[in-house]
Amino acid sequence: MISIKSKYDCCGCEACAQRCAHNAISMKRDKEGFLYPIIDPNKCTKCDICEKVCPVINQKLPSEPIKTYAAKNKDEIVRLQSSSGGIFTLLATKTINNGGVVFGAKFDEQWKVVHDYVETIEDLAKFRGSKYVQSRINDNYIKVEQFLKQGRQVLFSGTPCQIAGLKKYLIKEYKNLICVDIICHGVPSPMIWQKYKAQFELSYTSSISFRDKSNSWKTYEVVVSKDQKEVIRETVGQNVYMKIFLSDLCLRPSCAICPAKDGKSKSDITIADFWGIQYIHPEFDDDKGCNLVLINSEKGLNFFNKLECDKIESDFNTAIKYNPSYYKSVSEPKYRQYFFDNFDKYGFSIYNKIQKEQQPSLIRRIASRIKRMISE
Ligand SMILES: Cc1cc2nc3c(=O)[nH]c(=O)nc-3n(C[C@H](O)[C@H](O)[C@H](O)COP(=O)(O)OP(=O)(O)OC[C@H]3O[C@@H](n4cnc5c(N)ncnc54)[C@H](O)[C@@H]3O)c2cc1C
Ligand code: SF4
Ligand code: SF4
Ligand code: SF4
Repeated sequence: MISIKSKYDCCGCEACAQRCAHNAISMKRDKEGFLYPIIDPNKCTKCDICEKVCPVINQKLPSEPIKTYAAKNKDEIVRLQSSSGGIFTLLATKTINNGGVVFGAKFDEQWKVVHDYVETIEDLAKFRGSKYVQSRINDNYIKVEQFLKQGRQVLFSGTPCQIAGLKKYLIKEYKNLICVDIICHGVPSPMIWQKYKAQFELSYTSSISFRDKSNSWKTYEVVVSKDQKEVIRETVGQNVYMKIFLSDLCLRPSCAICPAKDGKSKSDITIADFWGIQYIHPEFDDDKGCNLVLINSEKGLNFFNKLECDKIESDFNTAIKYNPSYYKSVSEPKYRQYFFDNFDKYGFSIYNKIQKEQQPSLIRRIASRIKRMISE
């Protein structure tokens, strides 16, 4: 049975909990706010199915995509609402037009990030845009399996580890399933997000965009609005939540040894920002958002080829030079433990405290200069 000896060895996909036929696994949050499985020994029959469906225990080998594209949605409004080029919406729209179901990450009524499914084009808006928080899978793999068995087409989108978890959970391949993952830098703690959003007293009339592109895609802004009035509009360099996210202080431990990057998720299509487009295909760049689209399977290629989008073929190795998160896990920062141990004491001002600690003090700098001079 699953036994989490190290927190690095669980990405929180919930495949084990959903597959256990004896309901012996519940997911519990740790002090950092991440979910881990807990086994009830009174219910467990030691069948070991949970180990067989775990994507961390059963990792696939890395692989390269069969085709690489730069691509954009032709609908300028949808592209503006999306984090990159709006290709997710095109893939999802095609699924719904085929009578299918689309799974993705949305904000719930309490502004927590959760996975869910939609069956109409209007409802797709819930999934649009990157939410920089770990999304809870809950029982959505069970729902995917039910739809697949009914013969419905299913598009499941998520992080590479959520795709890897779904594929292990399903045990067998389904022709009517399309898996779409994102290139994933890593996912922040839902607890830190809870504390950040608490300051805004959000309601159903609020909106949040981690990636507002109205001024620029490359230098996007975080925008929080209440009753259609902007409460904050901050660049990544100004927004403390984004600074903490991008300095890797609040990421899930497994993101430091990701089990599913580098083509290991076995998704059909990977979507991402086409960072570096201004150098690789300058004629295609308008700073309104462009996707890097990596096609990983023939099924993915057939699906993508039927989309009506602006696209050009590109070179995989050149493109991922500007997007190392494709294959490289984050390095855990020295102050990560300090961050979680002291967050309650300092709140979000802990970021500035850590920044100060990281800069060598004047005395330390002078001392090390003297040391260098003596040893020369
Ligand atoms: C946590 C996170 C880290 C990322 N890191 C990178 C990176 O390092 N490099 C890069 O190029 N791109 C990264 N992306 C992906 C990028 O931001 C866009 O989501 C992607 O390019 C798709 O853009 P789009 O315009 O096609 O669609 P959009 O409409 O912007 O994307 C929506 C898609 O993202 C999914 N999604 C949104 N939030 C989450 C979440 N919390 N968990 C799981 N799925 C989610 C939705 O289900 C949907 O499939 C990251 C996204 C997230 C959520
Ligand atoms: S060993 Fe079997 S019964 Fe026990 S927790 Fe795992 S799946 Fe459930
Ligand atoms: S990675 Fe997923 S399947 Fe493996 S232990 Fe964690 S939650 Fe369970
Ligand atoms: S970096 Fe890897 S482990 Fe972390 S959320 Fe992304 S896919 Fe999952």
